[in-house]
Amino acid sequence: MRLNYDNKSTINIVNNPVQHDRTKHIEIDRHFIKEKLDSGLICTPYVSTQGQLADVLTKGLNSSVFQNLVSKLGMLIVATSNSEIPKLNHILIRGTENGVPGLRMMEGSEAMRIEPELQCLKAILSPFTGILDTHSLMLSLVGEAENNGATFSYNTTVIGGHVEQSRICLHISETKCLESCNGSFPSQPEMTLIPDLVVNSAGLSAPVLAKRFNGLQNEVIPPAYYARGCYFTLFNMKIPPFEHLIYPIPVEGGIGVHVTLDLDGLVKFGPDVEWIDGVDEISSFLNKFDYSVHANRAELFYADIRKYYPNLKNDSLQAGYAGIRPKVSGPGQPPGDFVIQGMETHGITGLVNLFGIESPGLTSSMAIAEHIATRYL
Ligand SMILES: Cc1cc2nc3c(=O)[nH]c(=O)nc-3n(C[C@H](O)[C@H](O)[C@H](O)COP(=O)(O)OP(=O)(O)OC[C@H]3O[C@@H](n4cnc5c(N)ncnc54)[C@H](O)[C@@H]3O)c2cc1C
Repeated sequence: MRLNYDNKSTINIVNNPVQHDRTKHIEIDRHFIKEKLDSGLICTPYVSTQGQLADVLTKGLNSSVFQNLVSKLGMLIVATSNSEIPKLNHILIRGTENGVPGLRMMEGSEAMRIEPELQCLKAILSPFTGILDTHSLMLSLVGEAENNGATFSYNTTVIGGHVEQSRICLHISETKCLESCNGSFPSQPEMTLIPDLVVNSAGLSAPVLAKRFNGLQNEVIPPAYYARGCYFTLFNMKIPPFEHLIYPIPVEGGIGVHVTLDLDGLVKFGPDVEWIDGVDEISSFLNKFDYSVHANRAELFYADIRKYYPNLKNDSLQAGYAGIRPKVSGPGQPPGDFVIQGMETHGITGLVNLFGIESPGLTSSMAIAEHIATRYL
């Protein structure tokens, strides 16, 4: 964990193994912190007062320092070979056309000046790209929804549905019932619901679930592909090598093995792309996909990462975790966009299917919700 500190005396006291008279009153705290420092759990790099983010919360700052501190982490998308430069130009044009604020192309020398461990020929700076705590975001959305009268039904599975008078009726069962049914669906749903609006946002299971809506034409359901993406964590490094998120040029099936910094200051690299098979319907609803990370994939990571981070040390990566992206296009095919399918496509009132909501589905979630509310509510 990185504790950026702007007080050099404090950093010296924390690092100094010898006690002084003047530090007596902080003896116990100091030992505690020193122990964590020695074990590598925390590190205390110096930041200038201008760059001390915590000051936003504790001090009255002038506007330029304040604006500087609240601007987010920032992202660099980098080209590491001449052949990647046209692709980088294309990303810049596309991003600008799509209204991404502040995008700017920079020469490799400038990018490498702000990120000394980076190697690249050119880079796009996206100054307002940042990270967020997904769990807190979800909790806050749940809280807001409940305050506005929403009720959540946890541990409940939609096992299918049927169309009646061109409306969708949902078949619902308790999840534990599905778990105890030995690989078959319950003969009867525990409940049938006829909602005004159903948004099939079942992620990896959305196409499988749509196929169980009796009366929905199968032809409108896109094929489902599954891309597992593994992350490896950088360990034994007290100070993260980068302050910005670093993204290479996207690769087939994914956005490329990039540098992600999490809110605890951990550095992760990923995700790679590994096409995997789907699972049967019930396993899909119970999320029994294979999320294992094979340590031998690290070799591919070293090669990919060293294109932009040549000083990456041997044996510095350890297996982290994996996620699986629901995709509508498979290996060798051009990338597919999100599919938001309403009655104009399938003719069923009150049904919206969401297919292929992969990255950046989380970033886009509020925009997707707004689109659905405006169009279908
Ligand atoms: C490796 C990886 C990295 C990513 N990085 C980013 C990123 O940097 N930025 C970003 O914006 N996005 C990112 N994403 C994408 C983001 O996670 C997804 O787009 C987002 O989670 C999709 O949300 P969703 O609600 O559509 O689906 P999900 O989050 O998959 O939720 C679907 C829910 O439906 C439930 N469900 C399934 N079947 C049923 C059923 N039959 N009945 C009831 N419930 C059911 C599931 O249990 C689950 O809770 C990443 C994804 C992966 C895999």
